[in-house]
Amino acid sequence: MIYLHVPFCRSFCTYCDFYSEIACRDRDAQTFEAYTQALCAEASDRRDEIEATRDLDTLYIGGGTPSVLPLSYLERILFILPEGGKAAACCRKYSEFTIEVNPEDIVEKGAEYVRGLLALGVNRISMGIQSFDDSILRWMNRRHDAARARQAFAILREAGVENLSVDIIFGLPQLTEAVLARTLDELLRLRPEHISAYQLSVEEGSTLGRMAREGRFTEASQEQCAAQYAQLCRTLGEAGYVHYEISNWALPGREAVHNGAYWTRHPYVGLGPAAHSFDGTTRSWNSKASAATASGNRATLGIVRGGTASEAKRWGPKDVSGGSWLLREGYEVLSAAEEREEQLFLGLRTARGIPEELAGPGAAPLLADGRLTRTPEGRLRIPEAAWFVSDDIISDLI
Ligand code: SF4
Repeated sequence: MIYLHVPFCRSFCTYCDFYSEIACRDRDAQTFEAYTQALCAEASDRRDEIEATRDLDTLYIGGGTPSVLPLSYLERILFILPEGGKAAACCRKYSEFTIEVNPEDIVEKGAEYVRGLLALGVNRISMGIQSFDDSILRWMNRRHDAARARQAFAILREAGVENLSVDIIFGLPQLTEAVLARTLDELLRLRPEHISAYQLSVEEGSTLGRMAREGRFTEASQEQCAAQYAQLCRTLGEAGYVHYEISNWALPGREAVHNGAYWTRHPYVGLGPAAHSFDGTTRSWNSKASAATASGNRATLGIVRGGTASEAKRWGPKDVSGGSWLLREGYEVLSAAEEREEQLFLGLRTARGIPEELAGPGAAPLLADGRLTRTPEGRLRIPEAAWFVSDDIISDLI
């Protein structure tokens, strides 16, 4: 189970504070080359770890915006992953191989690019549409408009993509019931296999964070957000989507395998400058370069090699050609109590819920007042109607 981080975007969205660098197709060949070399080096270094997670054979390429990276670089990265090159085509086959894309890249690169992705083994595409309302898209500083989102969706389908996930955002103060209804109508006409809906949050390092500090943005009230979430649940449920996790809906049988495994704490290897890894007991993370290293120079992306997770430490700046991401910058081993909390938080985000014995004695009052229910399998879950306040319920349980 591999996650691969592609840290490039063509511009930054208002709400986002993910680590990413501005890069754009042909202009940034040197940056893409440095990134690809560093990623391949990391994949080689961590070959044993990757092999150890192979019982779940999934690959997820996230970002940033992975569709910014030209196909030729992606092909080289896939080739270096274990077993790359041995398969007939060029790359290892994954049971689920997802790549995130943005509509403008799909429209500009066209069906040939999409067919190229499929030829590399991609069998699931996740597209960030966010809204079908042009004024909201402009406010978010997205590069596409609703027309381009529709066009991109059509290109993906025509090129043969059969498993498509779409991201949308709710929790905006300007998202009225009517505007959200129009976005959902459009979405349901397209009928993607999977829909993720994330609530807007004000991140410190984002443009939105600055706007909020300067008094130029006021968050939607909890009541507004709850009403929008209820509208999502109602509309998508009526359209036949299974609400299998707080933020995720799927047509039956199209639940995300890779993301689903995060919620059951399956080990995974994360490659790239801001990727996390988990080996079953230890979480470790790479990090973008500190100011002391070559950060700020986009043409010199690279890695500073660390040791195993148990040897993880902050590696000082080194004179590596292009070193600017820190491999396994840090790690943490959860205590038994922290592990239980994590199991509760992750498990109670899902419709599958948690085993009753994990919940402990704190479950009884929550079962009594309906904030927890039993699934047909005898597990405990938070009912859909209470998912919006799940953090409070889980805190009470702990
Ligand atoms: S939301 Fe996606 S496209 Fe926008 S800045 Fe963040 S990573 Fe880039």
